[in-house]
Amino acid sequence: MPDADAGALLADRAAAAQPQMLAQVLAWSAINSGSQHLEGLARMAEVLAGAFGRLAPVERLRLAPQQIIGADGVLRERPLGQALRLRVRPEARWQVLLVGHYDTVYGAADAFQQPRWNADGTLNGPGVADLKGGLAVMLAALEAFESGPAALKAALGWTVLLNPDEEIGSPGSAPLLAAEAARHDVGLVFEPSALPDGTLAGARKGSGNFTVTLRGRAAHAGRNPQDGRNAIVAAADCVLGLAALAAPAQGISVNPAKIDGGGAVNVVPDLAVVRFNVRLAEPAQQAGLLAAVQQLCAAIHERHGCTAELAGGFTRPPKPLDARQRALHDFVAGTGAQLGLTLGTRDTGGVCDGNNLAAAGLANVDTLGVRGGAIHSPDEFLIVDSLAERARLATRLLVRLAAGELDRTLFARETRCC
Ligand SMILES: [Zn+2]
Repeated sequence: MPDADAGALLADRAAAAQPQMLAQVLAWSAINSGSQHLEGLARMAEVLAGAFGRLAPVERLRLAPQQIIGADGVLRERPLGQALRLRVRPEARWQVLLVGHYDTVYGAADAFQQPRWNADGTLNGPGVADLKGGLAVMLAALEAFESGPAALKAALGWTVLLNPDEEIGSPGSAPLLAAEAARHDVGLVFEPSALPDGTLAGARKGSGNFTVTLRGRAAHAGRNPQDGRNAIVAAADCVLGLAALAAPAQGISVNPAKIDGGGAVNVVPDLAVVRFNVRLAEPAQQAGLLAAVQQLCAAIHERHGCTAELAGGFTRPPKPLDARQRALHDFVAGTGAQLGLTLGTRDTGGVCDGNNLAAAGLANVDTLGVRGGAIHSPDEFLIVDSLAERARLATRLLVRLAAGELDRTLFARETRCC
């Protein structure tokens, strides 16, 4: 059977899995898998291991705990869920990495726990778009591809990596993502489309999460306030200084997000913890921004007599739309065109595991999941027909890669430079 015919047949087969995909999304959305809900993550991992286990044995990988500074300024470790990995034909010429996270931003105590139908026929539910719908699409595409001709399959091996910590910046799975990036040629990440019309994300900004711990000196607010060093006042000064580091024209944003500290009103507070997020357009901006924050910490110490200790880092480097990314995007858009889909590209300030893979040298398209929207809100929705549409697209991509329709020289793991 010619590859073009196989491509059409297998894409149809993937699309025919629409009822299976919808049933999976309904079931998976109802399992709370907030990034910090270990019990829910374990349940979700169990269900996913069962579903993906039809394709290949599923490995469960323990992740190192996340390091966090508490509201009391003390560094603690927070355990994470397990990552799941499946590998098929690691000896094949093309090696494709398929990535999706199974955690959501909705914790166990969130009011948003169950899927329900909207009046317009879209499905509202936790994770239906971000990213459980994408997991159903990934599975249907792989099942269709694996049902194809042996000669086609022999040209393409794949690894699936499902992680439980993407929504908190992939602190535990980052080393795994980097290691897998090095052994693959192309990455497919099943985050929802950038816009409900199916637009793919182009360049992505980089992101870093930081904490400044301010330590002053406690004193009685009435008797000897002059002996105190007010950490709350220092924190307020620090926050204003951080906000002033934003440079929208250069694509730099700084978001002071949370302040912990203080206590009784008759005590000069000796502790405050400031948390903030930074987004950058270019990898080269990281060093300058970091130096500016360190300078600010020194100035705060000088002005307020409080120590200001910076922790954290840039967890997701910027993902510029370079030549390889462009070539891969063109290939995906061309594949979409064969299916009657117009797939535009739009740059975004949002970040995902696609940033990590790109930073580790792996070209990847990271919005191959479902069409939907309002993610990270109780209005999150899935456009249900996009399950079949995106499964068709992903299958067709796998078939075209296996058939050698993408020039491998740009992407090959053996030859590419970091
Ligand atoms: Zn996501």
